Amino acid sequence: MTVPSAGPVLREDARAGRVRLVVTGDVDLGSSDTGAGRAAVTDALGVAPERLLLPRQVHGDRVVRVRDPWPGPPPEADGVLVVGDDLAAPLAVGVRAADCMPLLLADPGAGIAAAVHVGREGLRLGVARRAVRALRAAGARDLLARAGPTVCGACYEVPDALRAQVAAAEPAAAGVTRAGTPAVDVVAGVRAQLAAPLDETLDGPPVELDTRWAVCTLEDTSLASHRRDGTSRRHAALVVVDPA
Ligand SMILES: [Zn+2]
Repeated sequence: MTVPSAGPVLREDARAGRVRLVVTGDVDLGSSDTGAGRAAVTDALGVAPERLLLPRQVHGDRVVRVRDPWPGPPPEADGVLVVGDDLAAPLAVGVRAADCMPLLLADPGAGIAAAVHVGREGLRLGVARRAVRALRAAGARDLLARAGPTVCGACYEVPDALRAQVAAAEPAAAGVTRAGTPAVDVVAGVRAQLAAPLDETLDGPPVELDTRWAVCTLEDTSLASHRRDGTSRRHAALVVVDPA
């Protein structure tokens, strides 16, 4: 499966409800409102340019809830959560990646969603589960989970010690490359983390990882891949949430 490279918005899925899921091409969204590609994306999505928010990603597990544009520099976080009932106008939040997994989580009916950046370290820290917990605490119940383009388990070669470190936190993430060398399988790891029950107060229906957009960034040269190109190019995965 190839993701077409034309246009600022590569994929868009307007769910029944108040949430749209989006993957952008490799456009410069900037970390504030300065990115040169920002207007093309916000125009395409019908969102005010200042209402597209991206955190400063630090390979951590912090998830922040946002209702208005940040007054200063974006906070350090790897997940951003939006509750439609908080909003006066549509708000888009997203994360950038070029091999790491951009993960979109949403309860479209409730208008509650999050964009999460999950790399090897985020997987080890369980940022996906932390985001699910935050979404449920904010009132979400029936969650969909959509993975964006990410390096696949057959390509993501790592030293054996690193695989062991990740596998200690999430055994399903231990993988093997096509060449038979140690690998981290972020998709398998996140799938397992989402399928596992949370604690009883925040539990809900199982969250199934939808990988229809999870094209391998290393194999598909139309996508940004840090591993392949050492690039600073990034694509982004966004959720657009409408107010009530
Ligand atoms: Zn691959």
